[in-house]
Amino acid sequence: MTSTSSADLFARAQQVIPSGVNSPVRAFGSVGGTPPFLTDAKGALLHDADGKEYVDLVGSWGPMILGHANEQVVEAVREAAGRGLSFGAPQAGEVTLVEEVVSRVGPVEQLRLVNSGTEATMSALRVARAATERDVIVKFAGCYHGHVDALLAEAGSGVATFAMPGSAGVTASTARDTVVLPYGDRDAVAALFAERGSEIAAIITEAAPANMGVVPPLEADGIGFNRFLSETAHAHGALLISDEVLTGFRASREGYYGVDGPTGTDDAWAPDLMTFGKVIGGGLPVGAFGGRKDLMGLLAPAGPVYQAGTLSGNPLATAAGMATFAGLDAAAYETLGSASRTLQQLVADALTTAGVPHVIQTAGTLFSVFFREEPVTSYEDAKNQDTAAFTRFFHAMLDAGVYLPPSAFEAWFVSTAHTESVLDRIAAALPGAAKAAAS
Ligand code: PLP
Repeated sequence: MTSTSSADLFARAQQVIPSGVNSPVRAFGSVGGTPPFLTDAKGALLHDADGKEYVDLVGSWGPMILGHANEQVVEAVREAAGRGLSFGAPQAGEVTLVEEVVSRVGPVEQLRLVNSGTEATMSALRVARAATERDVIVKFAGCYHGHVDALLAEAGSGVATFAMPGSAGVTASTARDTVVLPYGDRDAVAALFAERGSEIAAIITEAAPANMGVVPPLEADGIGFNRFLSETAHAHGALLISDEVLTGFRASREGYYGVDGPTGTDDAWAPDLMTFGKVIGGGLPVGAFGGRKDLMGLLAPAGPVYQAGTLSGNPLATAAGMATFAGLDAAAYETLGSASRTLQQLVADALTTAGVPHVIQTAGTLFSVFFREEPVTSYEDAKNQDTAAFTRFFHAMLDAGVYLPPSAFEAWFVSTAHTESVLDRIAAALPGAAKAAAS
């Protein structure tokens, strides 16, 4: 049977794929309707099975920072494919890609490549537990670190979109080893460490949370929240894992660490372990975890922490990652920053004109729009927004040919391909969508 329309494909998919999708938020469950089945993409534009064109503000949830089917990236993958799809043995591309990350991000002395952000955070937890010989992990409500059993409690992203407290199928003993605190709550962190500091292996945090919408870490008494976490963890013999799967090489050239972690100054602080994904694979499946050499030295075969992968360091993925990094020079970050600022202004103007309460929050070049008046500093705040207004806005934008994340809890992703003419198309769609949100 051949089906061509999105509706037909979705009907077929629902017969054989749970909810018709391979990742929950793609099902449009919280906004309703049929998700467009995509056929091809170029630059900032997508096409679906019904022949409709959209301006893309999802960017495959982050990796497509140079836009879709970027010629240099595609050529690098094509060239690599001609030399073999997978070796399961060392190859030069792994070294080059890892050297690039190490050169950009001060705290990363060594890095190991995996196949997803989930694998990266899962492996980082294992290293932290082995290094400290402790079990407990601290995470923050609204932070998403992939679908790792231990990290699903009160997670953002799809877990937030579907208002799930966590996930069925996670054992009670796993859940017991995870303590969830409100994001940004220094008193709660201090109180937990005062009471249970000797049990805690690590704090894991998004460097700048972006999976409950963008909620940047705030300073208090001149000390940034991430630095505070690092100092508190270290005072109790625990580690800090900074998750830059989403912010890495997007928030700035060095990721969010480039925004709030001044290396090489008296003021320096550093996470012990960091995790990456998305941008470093340029659209192919890659994740990575790294950090202090003494900690990474615990990995097998030299050390006792087992971690492995048939496709880890895959030559196509490392080629796509390197070609993406090659495109991410200073000018690219200027372009990204400028596209992001222009879009924020356009959205703010349209929503203000239509009288729709909103607040736009940023972390480097990342941003998101909350449909509420007051700033959002926690998951509780993020949940307290007008998701019905977002849904009306989302569908009006989609009808007008702009593909937004189908959830009020996600960042909006621009790319270097979001040129003035692309932004003009978004500008044309905004007034109608803002009116729909207000209705
Ligand atoms: N960590 C963060 C901060 C993420 O945003 C994500 C995915 O969105 C992950 C981890 C999981 O990455 P993946 O979906 O590649 O498993």
